[in-house]
Amino acid sequence: MNAIVDLPKEAQAHVGKNIPIYKERGQREVFCGLTGIIWLHRKIQDAFFLVVGSRTCAHLIQSAAGVMIFAEPRFATAIIDDRDLAGIADAHDELDRVVKALLTRRPDIKMLFLVGSCPSEVIKLDLSRAAQRLNKEMINQCRILSYSGSGIETTFTQGEDACLASLISDTPKQAPAAEQNLLIVGCLPDIVEDQFQRIFNELGIANVSFFPPKSSKQVVEIHSNTQYLLAQPFLAETARLIEERGAKRLSAPFPFGVEGTTAWLKAAANAWGIDESKFDQVTQVRIDRAKKSLARYLPALENKSISFFPDSQLEIPLARFLSKECGMKVLEIGTPYIHKQHLECEFDLLPENIRIVEGQDVEKQLDRCRSDKPDIVVCGLGLANPLESEGITTKWSIELVFSPVHGYEQAADLAELFARPLNRSLKLAA
Ligand code: SF4
Repeated sequence: MNAIVDLPKEAQAHVGKNIPIYKERGQREVFCGLTGIIWLHRKIQDAFFLVVGSRTCAHLIQSAAGVMIFAEPRFATAIIDDRDLAGIADAHDELDRVVKALLTRRPDIKMLFLVGSCPSEVIKLDLSRAAQRLNKEMINQCRILSYSGSGIETTFTQGEDACLASLISDTPKQAPAAEQNLLIVGCLPDIVEDQFQRIFNELGIANVSFFPPKSSKQVVEIHSNTQYLLAQPFLAETARLIEERGAKRLSAPFPFGVEGTTAWLKAAANAWGIDESKFDQVTQVRIDRAKKSLARYLPALENKSISFFPDSQLEIPLARFLSKECGMKVLEIGTPYIHKQHLECEFDLLPENIRIVEGQDVEKQLDRCRSDKPDIVVCGLGLANPLESEGITTKWSIELVFSPVHGYEQAADLAELFARPLNRSLKLAA
């Protein structure tokens, strides 16, 4: 690896096998938390997301969602512009009018999220109070919640964290049930949820539920006899609120790749006292099949170098998968935020001699990237084009959040997401 360019000489902290974490503060190139609406609205099927924001927010949502609105959409933007600056009371009245008109026209909406954004007039609005006020009027028709997707407070996957945290806060406190239950926390595509559900059934873990639920009517079981597994590494606040209800987190790597998935399932199996032979009987065929599919992409990935720009908070588990199971050389893992407890099992599996940088100073990171010359860079959309124009192959990090990438069946698909741009660059260079 080349010498570290422009990083503080002393790292702020060390993790795992003495891996230093450098902290960097400066200009960031990360989407805001509104982006999460794109996958959240697909997951909670009777929810609607009303962004209270500016025209910029409306453009972001529209372009991030593409043009895939065929029927009634389940997100929109209430634009609070100069017209409303005359008084906050006017803005509250305007918001109430928009919400009531929406719910009258769309009685199918059973859960409405008011999503805050950056403009100062929106920050002054206090959406949690607006949600409480509207809830009193709309009682029995719709649950109204609020969270912030503002770029000042959230990076793009933190929007999911803020949304799920608001859902937990709105869930009534429960007394512990006699039977322990397993809660899987984090948005997963339905197909992945079904695969995991089948595995848990075969293992004999009966009482399993997924959060967020598909329907607003579904009450999620969280109490002191709940054990939970995180499916995503960016849910710090959600996890904190779940633990406030007495639930216990099962420490595990995240279910990316064959090894990550096996270790994640094993954490649940151990907590439920499932014996080794039963675990092997359920997982071995899937492991063999996943490894065979994954092998197809290894020639494209082995010994290729990779750097991550901070974006999705998936960077550390993905780097672990790509180095351990695909033979890639990880040069730098940039990540917006590190939750050390949630990632402790991942740190143990990372190779030594890598550079982890928490936060971002984009110009300095670009300098390091140019000096390292990785074969592929994982970054946000805003950096991908300029880097490609410099001859650096890129992978959009947002695609890694949109695509089904968890679990055995998706391990090869996950590898393919990195192999494809590398193969394309090879062909272009030939
Ligand atoms: S960064 Fe702020 S203003 Fe821009 S789209 Fe996101 S919430 Fe809206």
